[in-house]
Amino acid sequence: MSHAPFTPSATKRWLNCQGSFPLSLLMPPEVESTYAEEGSRLHGLAAAHLTGCDDSMHAADWEAIKPYVFYASDRIAESDFVATEQRLDYSPLLFGTPDLLLGFDTVMGADRGLLEVVDLKTGAGIMVDAEENEQLLTYAFMALVKLRKLGRGFDRVRLTIVQPPDEANPVKSWECSAGRVMEHGARVEAAIARALEGDPPIVPGEWCRFCRAKPVCPKLRGEMVEALAGLTPATLTPLALAQWLDRADRREGFIKAVREVGHTLVGAGVNVPGWTLKPKRATRQWDDEDKVLEIARRRKIKIYQDKMLSPAMAEKAHPNLPQELRDRIVAVSSGSNLVRGEAPDTVNVKPEATKTERLMANFKLMQHRR
Ligand code: SF4
Repeated sequence: MSHAPFTPSATKRWLNCQGSFPLSLLMPPEVESTYAEEGSRLHGLAAAHLTGCDDSMHAADWEAIKPYVFYASDRIAESDFVATEQRLDYSPLLFGTPDLLLGFDTVMGADRGLLEVVDLKTGAGIMVDAEENEQLLTYAFMALVKLRKLGRGFDRVRLTIVQPPDEANPVKSWECSAGRVMEHGARVEAAIARALEGDPPIVPGEWCRFCRAKPVCPKLRGEMVEALAGLTPATLTPLALAQWLDRADRREGFIKAVREVGHTLVGAGVNVPGWTLKPKRATRQWDDEDKVLEIARRRKIKIYQDKMLSPAMAEKAHPNLPQELRDRIVAVSSGSNLVRGEAPDTVNVKPEATKTERLMANFKLMQHRR
């Protein structure tokens, strides 16, 4: 899937830190993570289910999207128009695909009806709120503009997040006026214009967490240097401590991002002197859970307690586990770690590379990766 230069999912970052746009161009191309791949797969299943293209899916997949399918089906039944996974093109710089757009003609307090943007979040790491959600406001803005051009206006907008892993509160909605969404649109346009000008502002904050420019970000580097230059404990007031704790989060993000870039480049065959990839320790897994369940059912062996027992748990629960099941156990390494390898080659590192040199070095890396 191609991402827009100003992708709606990163709205919060580029609204607050326009400098992240040119800085991210200095980074090697992004590799989709396994989490993102899994999220895309579940989104595909949900869309296929809603559009009647697929009714069969594994139980675990169904559990991962069930609240979204139920909510979406109910709202679709009441709506006057539906668009599932339809790309919105605002400009060559700003486009994206909301999971579901719905239009309701008759809504109390809205002469021209209500537009709803529904977004499925399959991740369990961060629970996302619908209120003032920048990503959904951007989708709503692009949808309002497109629909207005087609002669269709709305007074109200509802943003809905359906996040099945948030078991206590899987469906969250927030409503606002169409005017509020258009205000957000004006901020979006201004931020994109500012990001394309020379020297846009670089502003650290909580949005740094998902910024891929961390390894080349001068603000984060500056905070690192300041930290090392030393603030003695005596000057650490509670207020200063709070600020330094925020910076500590960003420093950890910076270090993690540097490691991730190293991992990606070494994995792509780039010689990063002194560093190599080592496979993670293999763990024992079932080769095919459906087949294991079928064998266990046939042999009347209990292998499911809330969830599938791992091979180790199954062996503990059933010391005489039949060979037919033991044959289904495989050892799988779940990736690799970046570790120090052979002695580093001698490299000449310039203390200060010029912007052009950095761009050329990056360009060479990108060529190497193709
Ligand atoms: S790391 Fe933070 S401050 Fe630096 S460019 Fe990214 S968002 Fe901006």
